[in-house]
Amino acid sequence: MSNSLLDELSAAALRCPVITPDHQDYDRYRKVWNGVADRRPLAIVRPLDVEDVRKAVRAAAAAGVLLAVRGGGHSLPGLSTCDDGLVLDMSLLNSITIDRDARTVEVGGGALLGDLDRATVPEGYVVPAGVISHTGVAGLTLGGGMGWASRKYGLTIDSLLGAEIVTAAGDVIWVSATSDPELFWGIRGGGGNFGVVTRFKFKLHPLGRILVGQWNYPMENARQVLSALRGLVREQSRDFSASFTASQSGVNVTAVWSGDAARAQSVLAPFGALANGASGSVERLPYLSLQSRNDEDFAWSRRYYAKGGFWSDISDGAIEDIVEAIASAPTPGCEIYAIQLGGAICDVPDDATAYTGRSAGYYWLSEPVWDTIADDDRCIAWGRATAHALSDPSITGNYVNELGETGSNVARDAYGPAKYQRLARLKARLDPQNLFRLNQNIKPQE
Ligand SMILES: Cc1cc2nc3c(=O)[nH]c(=O)nc-3n(C[C@H](O)[C@H](O)[C@H](O)COP(=O)(O)OP(=O)(O)OC[C@H]3O[C@@H](n4cnc5c(N)ncnc54)[C@H](O)[C@@H]3O)c2cc1C
Repeated sequence: MSNSLLDELSAAALRCPVITPDHQDYDRYRKVWNGVADRRPLAIVRPLDVEDVRKAVRAAAAAGVLLAVRGGGHSLPGLSTCDDGLVLDMSLLNSITIDRDARTVEVGGGALLGDLDRATVPEGYVVPAGVISHTGVAGLTLGGGMGWASRKYGLTIDSLLGAEIVTAAGDVIWVSATSDPELFWGIRGGGGNFGVVTRFKFKLHPLGRILVGQWNYPMENARQVLSALRGLVREQSRDFSASFTASQSGVNVTAVWSGDAARAQSVLAPFGALANGASGSVERLPYLSLQSRNDEDFAWSRRYYAKGGFWSDISDGAIEDIVEAIASAPTPGCEIYAIQLGGAICDVPDDATAYTGRSAGYYWLSEPVWDTIADDDRCIAWGRATAHALSDPSITGNYVNELGETGSNVARDAYGPAKYQRLARLKARLDPQNLFRLNQNIKPQE
């Protein structure tokens, strides 16, 4: 099998080098963000253009090997790498081109959120995306994309105008609301199931002035903090966004205001008085700093697991579960995170895109972080048990991008039966052999 892939790649005459295990940089290029996903592909291809992508996709299909597509490499279960297959590392296709008149931006399929923000923010614009700057635009967008600007401007997919895709057949197509609307529906939440995105086109939104309040509360006051936070958050407009993280170092509350600057203090200051013992303040944090402030906490090569879900609100039961889970956390890096949703996310009907869960009030995550293999079992067990406790069975749907588990039921449960069937029909048209199966996989409908 290995000769066959290398023969196919060699016959394809790619412009870019093919990195095999004997290459001096093999270990560097085979790495992905999650240190748990330590895999050894047969070859890594780093395309320089769309032609390289087409040739690599065709080579993997012809050789019958696993194909992993990597944008930013942040897949929680390590779906952007594989053993004994081909990794298509898109990171060199990371160009960003702004059209000021049209207020749009084109983004290469290997760009990171930081690349995008560094291009648009100095121009006064933003595309709503995630909260860690080394995350890939591609994987994040294809699953949905949520972050600080989402309550104001929607999910990342709500700003998507079109995408250039290399299909399993090796064709290059442009997908938009008018050119294959069904596939455009599917790529807005359906993950990497339908092909390799080489270029996205997004609508730009005015950024405005951002004020940010950040506070840390002692864990012993968590009950009071979270129930007060819940009440205050309910009253806020879509110019406001909040998140919290609970860990052994306390409850961190972040509140972001992008509305009328004169109101900022009165909106944000109460989040610093949710309970006794707060340390922190309100400041005018540059957007780029806000977007990268937690980058180091989620550095490459540490060991991670995550499992999350939606809440309509923070229940009393969830608060108790959070307190208990943190008390039993196996490492200091184990945390529970939740970000407020709602606002513009709910302006789009749930069936308008493959993403499922638009009516939710929060997305929460149980996310253990650790550094040694010896801690794998207990940290993953804690992550799973905590997620089980925090799940609200009354809520349909989940966010495929934040699930550390894989398996045939993950996508089915995340999309619900009706959407899953629609996605499976689309998959049968675009990728009947399931070449793109290293993702939260949708099986082609037979
Ligand atoms: C530290 C961290 C912070 C995060 N924060 C947020 C957040 O704030 N908001 C949020 O919404 N999500 C967040 N996520 C989840 C994130 O959206 C997913 O992990 C996403 O898959 C990351 O995309 P990536 O390109 O970096 O991942 P990769 O691992 O490169 O790719 C993941 C999957 O996406 C597909 N894919 C990647 N590139 C392409 C491409 N060019 N064409 C086709 N398919 C492709 C493939 O199926 C691949 O398996 C975060 C994840 C991490 C690890």
